[in-house]
Amino acid sequence: MPAGGARIGDRIALTITGLGHNGAGVGRHNDIAVFVPYTCPGDEIVAEVTEARRDMLIGRLVSLRKESPSRVQPGCPVFGTCGGCQLQHIDYAQQLVLKTDAVRDALERIGKFEAPKVLPALGMTNPWSFRNKAQFPVAMRRGRLVAGFYAAGSHYLVPIETCPVQHPLNNKIMTETLKVAARHALPAYDERSGEGVLRHILAKVAAETGQGMAALVTNTRTLPREREVAQEIANRVPGLVSIVQNINQERTNVILGPVTRPLLGETTIEDRVGGLRFRLSAESFAQTNPAQAKVTYDLALAYANVTASDVVVDAYCGIGTITLLLARKAGKVYGVENVAAAVEDAKVNAKLNRLSNVEFVLGDAEKVLPDLAKRGVRPTVLVLDPPRKGVDNEVIHAALAMMPERIVYVSCEPSTLARDLAKLASGGYELVEAQPVDMFPHTAHVETVVLLDKVGDTTASGNPTAN
Ligand code: SAH
Repeated sequence: MPAGGARIGDRIALTITGLGHNGAGVGRHNDIAVFVPYTCPGDEIVAEVTEARRDMLIGRLVSLRKESPSRVQPGCPVFGTCGGCQLQHIDYAQQLVLKTDAVRDALERIGKFEAPKVLPALGMTNPWSFRNKAQFPVAMRRGRLVAGFYAAGSHYLVPIETCPVQHPLNNKIMTETLKVAARHALPAYDERSGEGVLRHILAKVAAETGQGMAALVTNTRTLPREREVAQEIANRVPGLVSIVQNINQERTNVILGPVTRPLLGETTIEDRVGGLRFRLSAESFAQTNPAQAKVTYDLALAYANVTASDVVVDAYCGIGTITLLLARKAGKVYGVENVAAAVEDAKVNAKLNRLSNVEFVLGDAEKVLPDLAKRGVRPTVLVLDPPRKGVDNEVIHAALAMMPERIVYVSCEPSTLARDLAKLASGGYELVEAQPVDMFPHTAHVETVVLLDKVGDTTASGNPTAN
């Protein structure tokens, strides 16, 4: 018998009491968890079972018997079809409450922390038009070139004209590039046949300076009539300072290929964060919500609380944002990053800002951190800002070998954060506090900045909320 005695196709009534990991609402049926996308805690619903697993059910919302008071009208016409956002139907203040709960829940359930100090998530005043980067897949629909986003869990393209969480310049880069590509009869890449030219339009904008970048990701080494194409896009989009071609000839879901070549203008755009200048290329990572990135960085800096006597290792440093902000005050900062283009950008950024007390090391943190430890590098502060999968055991071991006074962990995934913090806690650190930041409004994702202190450490911690 499947979970909860329900079969696929059954209709069940339930009350949604929480949010699951991927943003779906969760209720219970015969004591089994039922996940129903696009529902809201407080909803009383009827769901149709679409998947029955041993220990949970997945359902589709059929009817709303009673609406949660937290429900609002979604801000986007393709919400629910496009896979980009999961929570637009939930009042923004309530989204923040739910994200705070998600972090606390992960720390308690996965990390086994008792009553961890989790501060209320810091949200945006206006949670729209904030995203500085978009990767729009391109396809042919009834002979027309379209771009948009994939539907949730699929590669079915939902065409869009404008995405309300994107910076307006990114939307314009997409629509105008499409028009130019259509004028020149550039065919879209077809995933199934592996034929065609244009795979993705990557749009980036530097929020502080307003500089835009368009990257045309192509399945071909050359781009037909590249000069005219690039010039026409530039003419139509004021603010565009960089147009590049990225070549991806692999049959893969990975968006960018290994080679990026200039078409018109610069190959990088320049932004400012916290008074420092940062150059950014098509391939390198930058936080996608600049306003909230600033909030995150300020917190990380406050927690790190460095002075000239501190040595810092900033692991997973990207283009060196946190590294350089720390380097203004610390004695020496090592940045560790495994994307070569990001390390190149980071080095240029250090020069641009005339900061010479930094050293960037290209490589996997799980190799470089143990090497640094072997070299005798003993940071007083360690910053970890890994991708969703968190840090590997080698990184935990190296951290515990280096035994910094403080560890600042910046996470975009509460479950791996909780797992990693538990390991660091059993290695001699105490969780001082966790501050969620809403870097990704209307999605189920949450960013968290955490301060850990070495147990028994009497040196000043950067805990800004301590008395
Ligand atoms: N701290 C930076 C970037 C954080 S995102 C900022 O705030 O801008 C995580 C970064 O880790 C990305 O730049 C990614 O390329 C890098 N990365 C991913 N896996 C890594 C690994 N195993 N070792 C080192 N860096 C890695």
